[in-house]
Amino acid sequence: MRTAKRLDNLAPYLFARIDAKKAELEAKGADVISLGIGDPDIATPAHIVCAMAKAIRNPANHQYPDYAGSLEYREACARYMQRRFSVEVDPKREVLALIGSKEGIAHLCNAFVDPGEYVLAPSIGYPVYSSGATLVSANTYAMPMREEDGFLADFTAVPESVLEKAKILFLNYPNNPTGAVATEEYFDKAIAFCLEHDLLLAHDNAYCDICFDGYRAPSILERPRAKECCIEFFSLSKSYNMTGWRIGFACGNEQAVQALGTVKNNLDSGQFTAIQQAAIAALDGSQDCVEEMCELYAKRRDLVVNAFRAIGMDCTAPKATIYIWVKVPAGYTSESFATELLERAQVIVTPGSGYGEGGEGYIRISLTTPDQLLEEAVRRIGRLNEMR
Ligand SMILES: *Cc1c(COP(=O)(O)O)cnc(C)c1O
Repeated sequence: MRTAKRLDNLAPYLFARIDAKKAELEAKGADVISLGIGDPDIATPAHIVCAMAKAIRNPANHQYPDYAGSLEYREACARYMQRRFSVEVDPKREVLALIGSKEGIAHLCNAFVDPGEYVLAPSIGYPVYSSGATLVSANTYAMPMREEDGFLADFTAVPESVLEKAKILFLNYPNNPTGAVATEEYFDKAIAFCLEHDLLLAHDNAYCDICFDGYRAPSILERPRAKECCIEFFSLSKSYNMTGWRIGFACGNEQAVQALGTVKNNLDSGQFTAIQQAAIAALDGSQDCVEEMCELYAKRRDLVVNAFRAIGMDCTAPKATIYIWVKVPAGYTSESFATELLERAQVIVTPGSGYGEGGEGYIRISLTTPDQLLEEAVRRIGRLNEMR
């Protein structure tokens, strides 16, 4: 048996080497703390779980769901867009339920990208933008992201020869892994660029509700002319601690939403209606739970930022996301520094190089570790005072 070549072209699993090292240390009895994975440690809020418990008892929910998502769910998504961003989307034509936003992001390439064509993806980013392209035998062009530009992906650097074959430009602000946020001017320039070059702009807004210090992340759909070229991805995973539930949505340009829907009609049969009903409770319910999570993450952020600064490392406090992006000291690579932290402090962080070529020289720390463990990790890092 021979698997398709495109499988060999997928980037290796980000955490494989670190996982092996962790297993080796744990076998020797070490107490390893992971600050590696971005998966909320707090339970899904009770009112959402209660809505699910009720919905699961309704036999009408046990049948095949509406493929595009129930109209009730799509209407709740549209209400959220209106309330949160003052953006109007038609729940019937411009909103599509997703089985988690990852699935939608990956499948978007099936709808828009032919073999040999290009997607433009940030050189530091969520690996799914390029793996979606790889799985349809297409190419990825990595747009440079520089710290001095606030990690805003430089689409103007894409060569003309690539642009001619490019179909989608992926952006993600607030950004995983850098924690960077975008300005309105940047979104406007990206929209103008996509209109000029006939590209679909796919904006991943998974972290729009995890913001600190009074910052409120925008939707790209707030910007003029955005609906002519933009599809935006939203996820309930991080906002409502629902990573395991697999629920999100896409909205924006009707042609893009419908094309993605056509792909999905042929691949899956939608998300369990009971989960959609729980998601309605999340989107329509009190947003106090989101605010509480943001307060908790802000506290953890300060703890981690202060710990790195105390050992002489440069580290900015992000305005959003659940990640801290830290430049490694001179003489280290992402991986050698991550290995040093693991061996000397038994703390796992993610090497920035795992997020693409632009991530070399950084590590990512996730804030989704329970307070006590995070405090212990920070104490251990603080003892490494000769690291600078
Ligand atoms: C977590 C995350 C998502 C959300 O994925 P789901 O499939 O909705 O759980 C999307 N994009 C980025 C950049 C993420 O970090």
